[in-house]
Formats: sequence, structure tokens, C-alpha cells
Amino acid sequence: MGKRNIVGLLPQDLFSWFEERGEPAYRARQVALWLYQRGVSCFEDMTDLPVKLRRALAESFQVGELHIKERLRSQDGAEKFLLTLHDGNAVEEVLIPHRGRNTLCVSSQVGCPVGCPFCATGRTGFKRNLNFQEIVEEVWLVERERRLKVENLVFMGMGEPLLNYDHFSKALRVINAREGLRIGSRRITVSTVGVPGAIVQLGRDFKEVNLAVSLHAPDNDLRSLLVPLNRIYPLSSVLRSVREYITLTNRRVTVEYTLWQDVNDSAKDAHALARLLVEMLVHVNIIPGNQVAGSSFRPASSERIERFVRILKENRINVTVRKSRGRGIQASCGELYRIQEGKT
Ligand code: SF4
Repeated sequence: MGKRNIVGLLPQDLFSWFEERGEPAYRARQVALWLYQRGVSCFEDMTDLPVKLRRALAESFQVGELHIKERLRSQDGAEKFLLTLHDGNAVEEVLIPHRGRNTLCVSSQVGCPVGCPFCATGRTGFKRNLNFQEIVEEVWLVERERRLKVENLVFMGMGEPLLNYDHFSKALRVINAREGLRIGSRRITVSTVGVPGAIVQLGRDFKEVNLAVSLHAPDNDLRSLLVPLNRIYPLSSVLRSVREYITLTNRRVTVEYTLWQDVNDSAKDAHALARLLVEMLVHVNIIPGNQVAGSSFRPASSERIERFVRILKENRINVTVRKSRGRGIQASCGELYRIQEGKT
């Protein structure tokens, strides 16, 4: 049997391994400290462990299985990584330094089954879910390679995390754990296009994690065009689950809305969105569209963005416009992957 990957192992599984060998629990904590806080990738370097124990660990485990295949850095400091997985598949992640803090945007699936037509990832199709250890290792690998600490984590890379809830939620536990990466729940944001059951489950399981829901349209016809999952989970069911999430957590939800010229950026759309969100504990984040190769969706003009924002404000909806980072490095999620796959 091959060796197990120790990176991303659930804390209870790490503790069990030591317990089964009659080793004290503090040995597991030492290993976690070496792995996640000191970025060590070789048991031999865990110098406060007995040599015999280091050998036993090396016989049972390998340390990591992802590799950085390519990295691109933009002028504004954002850095994009293409990571290869053990089966030859690849995912992307983006590191965004801002005001002395590092935000990492990670993937949850290889490709994406939702298939939004404006998104490079959606146009690649879906290959598979990432398992929880692969998700944790995305963070671990960048921290180790770049010798830095990730302070904010966002699930906005390739894939829909709430369609991979089992592995996504296990990964969150390791990322958050004292014997894991120690990233606080309030510094983690999950972005979804809306999987109602999983939104409610998230509210029950992780009361302090931030939720962002991508609406992109104020009615079902338009939304089904932009976010095909809307045909299964229509707006009313998504918004109902968001209300339930707010009741469970008492946390404000971010509503993301990407503006596309002459598609979803009219004054009528802005008024309709305001009516949907009135008196909800939400903040709207307007995202100027980013046109990807092969897509006919064009970014809304600055005049149309301004009008959309003005209407929301007039209707007392909290709103900001997101500043785009990572220009020049195929900033949209999935673009670097598509280039590698020869799909552009
Ligand atoms: S926008 Fe998000 S949900 Fe839609 S296809 Fe892209 S990754 Fe998937």
C-alpha cells in the first residue's frame, strides 16, 4: 500500500496514529507545528522528535503531493499558481497581498459543473472534486513556497465549493484547527452561486465563516442564462436559504453581482435587485465583468456601473464596487488552466 499524505490529515486521524503506537499526544502536536507553522516538508528535519519516531513517520507518510507547475506575477503584486495534482489534473490559486495581509483564493474542484458562460472555468467543464487534503495543501504549499502566512482565505477559485460540501467542510476544519493551519473562521469567505441545502448547513456547521452569494441577475430567466444551476435552484430558494443562514448566524452576507454590458446592467435590473434585497442583512459587491477568451460577454461601461450603484444606494442597499487585482496574469479563474490545456 502507498504512503498516506500527512498534509491536511484531520487532527483526530493524526492523533490516532500516535495513540496506536503508544506515543503521547504532544508528539502529534509537535508534528503539526513543524508542518503548518514552520513549513517543514521532511520528517528528518523535525529535530525535536526521536530518530526512531521520525523513521516510523517517514515509513507511513509522505509530506504533500501537489506541485507548482507554473506561477505568474502581475504588476500589482498578485501571484497566480498552477498546481498539478497526483493524477495529472491541475487547479489554480491566486495570492493577493494587500495592506500587509495575504489573501489566498483557492479552488474546490477541478473545473466546475455549474458552467457559467462568462467564466473560463465554467467553459472547461468539470473533471472531479478536490478531496479535503488537496484543498488544505493548496494553502500549505503556498505558505511554504513563499515563506509567508495566509491571513485571509477565500473560496472563489475553480469550482463551486458547496457542491463539494463534504470535502470542503473537512478542509475548513483542518484549516481552522490549532493542529492545522490556524486560519480564523472570520477570515475565511466561501463564495457560492447558491446551493440552498448547503448554505443552511454551512450556517449550522460554521457560524463564523463569511458567506458570499453570486446572484448576477434579479430574475430567473436572466439568471438561468448566466448561472445554469439556477434551473435547479431558482432565486426564491437561494434567497430563502440566505435568510435562514442569516437567522442562524446573525452575519451579514455579501451578494456578488458581476455587471455585463446590455445583459444585466440596466436601470430596471438595478431596481429589481434592490426590491429582492430590501431589508435583508446583505452587502452588494459589484464586480466589473472580466471578458475571457471565446466569450461574447463584455464588461459593463463605467457609466452603466455608476448608474447601477446609484440606484442601489437610492434604495438604501449597501453597495461597493470591487477593485480588480491581478491584471495581466489571466486574472479570471480558470484562464491559466485553459491555456495549459490548449483550450484558448
Ligand atoms: S463562475 Fe463560479 S460557479 Fe460559475 S462556472 Fe465559474 S467557477 Fe463555476
